[in-house]
Amino acid sequence: MLTQAPKGTQDMLPKDAHRWQTIEGNMRGICALAGYREIRTPIFEHTELFQRGVGDTTDVVQKEMYTFNDKGNRSITLKPEGTAGAVRALIESHMYADALPVKLYYASCPCFRYEKPQSGRLRQFHQNGVEVFGAKDASVDAEIIQLAMQLLEANGIGDLKLNINSIGCPECRKAYHEKLRAYLEPKLSTLCKTCQERFERNPLRILDCKEDADKLTDAPAMLDNLCPDCAAHFGKLKQYLTAMGLDYAVDPRIVRGLDYYTKTVFEIITETPGGNLTVCGGGRYDGLVEELGGPATPGIGFGMGIERMIMVQDLRGIAPEAPALYDAFVVTMGDEARMEGVRLVSELRAAGLKADLDHAARSMKAQFKYANKVGASKVIVIAGDELEKGVVKIRDMSNSSEAEVARSEAVQTILQMK
Ligand code: ATP
Ligand code: MG
Repeated sequence: MLTQAPKGTQDMLPKDAHRWQTIEGNMRGICALAGYREIRTPIFEHTELFQRGVGDTTDVVQKEMYTFNDKGNRSITLKPEGTAGAVRALIESHMYADALPVKLYYASCPCFRYEKPQSGRLRQFHQNGVEVFGAKDASVDAEIIQLAMQLLEANGIGDLKLNINSIGCPECRKAYHEKLRAYLEPKLSTLCKTCQERFERNPLRILDCKEDADKLTDAPAMLDNLCPDCAAHFGKLKQYLTAMGLDYAVDPRIVRGLDYYTKTVFEIITETPGGNLTVCGGGRYDGLVEELGGPATPGIGFGMGIERMIMVQDLRGIAPEAPALYDAFVVTMGDEARMEGVRLVSELRAAGLKADLDHAARSMKAQFKYANKVGASKVIVIAGDELEKGVVKIRDMSNSSEAEVARSEAVQTILQMK
């Protein structure tokens, strides 16, 4: 128990650190090119924020939140997604009054959902995501979709399928809900219990039910019932995507699990040997800032699961190799040589080279073995002979060739060999 991480959680171990760092680096680099700046919000928020923001008819809020009372008897929830916190921060810091749009991203944001742990489904997972506030044109919908595609491709996740849909605005949805309810009513008794509960408050979500989907293939689609404004927005989005050279499929069945979406919703799916996996989901939420107490401000964003991306890399056998731990490992014999070794390691590091020496009082042979094990590409030897002659011996571990160079030239030589 004590030595087992809680169910549904994972350590990020040093052997995989480079993978997380690369994914984060791609996020920062690609977002910076499009003018996005980083935001970090707290890991926990007041429970009410998610109830109001994510929506209390959603699975996330009804079943999946990590909610507890703190010592001051406040109801606190570990964030299940990144958008509600970003909206809260936008309102609290009056960022909505800055030059609009406000373009934000977050990298490796921890998210918590009490889900049944299974492949690709964790209780603590991490998302990269973006949120854009104050831009209502569909060009920004297309922009974040393009960013998501670029990010996935930068991480080696190919064979991407982009599915888009529009779920309209509260105006057109009202009329559509009536139509949908009229269609669903005679079937209601055959639907699952959750869907029966959704019938009054959120009938659209019934279309997203995995159990009942097959019975509802001829249901009226939101897409065919959009108001002129929403229809025009969706039309523009398709044009922008085409202008960007992005292929897409319109999937009228995408609903998305969170209540706050309006107009554009999308999912990006990748094929894996074990089936299709959703690696990114997002959409527009034009009513959310106002719903949470800010001025009416359109918003749009996506969340991308990092563990999912890593899983796809593994399934496809495209996990990037770890970089060498050291450019040079200094092997010494004797106290005086060791002191010189400490000096040399400092010089190497100061020159921007990854370097180290033995800290475990090992024999020279064991030092070599260690250097080999940790994948040092060069070994620099300093023993009595070398000290006397004012030289060091450099061994290239890839081909075991050795060369003697002046001690004063050691750092420069390693730099050149790199
Ligand atoms: P799913 O349909 O897989 O349950 P979702 O609609 O709940 O996804 P979002 O809330 O949109 O997902 O989150 C965006 C992304 O976060 C998902 O596409 C996925 O990559 C990742 N994600 C969501 N839930 C989990 C989880 N429990 N464990 C790991 N990654 C997750
Ligand atoms: Mg989910």
